[in-house]
Amino acid sequence: MMSTADQGRDPIAPITVDLARLPELLTALRLPTIARLWAQLAERSDREGWPAARFLATLLELELAERYQRRIQRHLQEAELPVGKSLTTFDFASVPTVNMSQINALAAGGSWLDKGANILAFGPPGVGKSHLSAALGRALVEKGYRVLYTRTTDLVQRLQAARRDLLLESLMDKLDKYDLLILDDISYVRKDQAETSVLFELISARYERRSLFITANKPFGQWDEIFPDKAMTVAAIDRLVHHAVILEINTESYRRKTAVSRAPGSSSTSKTKKSTQDDSDE
Ligand code: ADP
Ligand code: MG
Repeated sequence: MMSTADQGRDPIAPITVDLARLPELLTALRLPTIARLWAQLAERSDREGWPAARFLATLLELELAERYQRRIQRHLQEAELPVGKSLTTFDFASVPTVNMSQINALAAGGSWLDKGANILAFGPPGVGKSHLSAALGRALVEKGYRVLYTRTTDLVQRLQAARRDLLLESLMDKLDKYDLLILDDISYVRKDQAETSVLFELISARYERRSLFITANKPFGQWDEIFPDKAMTVAAIDRLVHHAVILEINTESYRRKTAVSRAPGSSSTSKTKKSTQDDSDE
């Protein structure tokens, strides 16, 4: 605490300035951009006779701008998004039921994330559900949001392990920091494989607070294969759809279509024929 005698005294009077300590001070204060740029900027400032305030403000602005970029890089890494899936590489023309301007509006973030609304994408394998969810996730990270992309089966396993180790609450807290949690392929979760009520608990915990993007290749009617009982299935769906954008992607598999159009001798009519080769994830 400051005594009245201290007030009014020059606050820097007792400090001996040792310029050689500058790198150490900047490291201690975690200012890597200033540490990298100050010498060069100081030279320019001396040469051009800048007021000290301008020199200081310039350094601080540079640090802040780079700090924001570093944060986004960190959030991109932690999001675990599949590589190369962005909105610019998504061909909206081949999915007529998905509206590009609606997706771009969602990619801006804002109110739907603030109120914890969800996106549910349905469709058979290969139609671009994972691509679209990852692309949206990437766009949101670039806007400053925090996102985690995971296969639902992987996350369910993590949740089950955490419950066994009495760490479920702390994992839930960790997941809570994500504005958007992308649960890819929820239909691959099977209640007979293990206790899937953890997934219901996650859905309940996020309800009206934190958003989910769920992809599924099975309609709601088949979701009782996911949750332990009928009542829980109904309750989960109820919460998910209460505030949700539902995307139905019922086009032809993009994988199959591109495979067929690349095949030698293929014509545009051949793509309506059903390929004999099934999608690997079917
Ligand atoms: P799903 O998750 O529905 O099974 P994916 O998102 O994995 O389908 O899509 C399968 C492959 O086809 C991926 O390589 C994906 O990038 C590509 N793909 C699917 N739809 C589109 C699209 N509309 N534009 C560009 N690439 C697409
Ligand atoms: Mg997928």
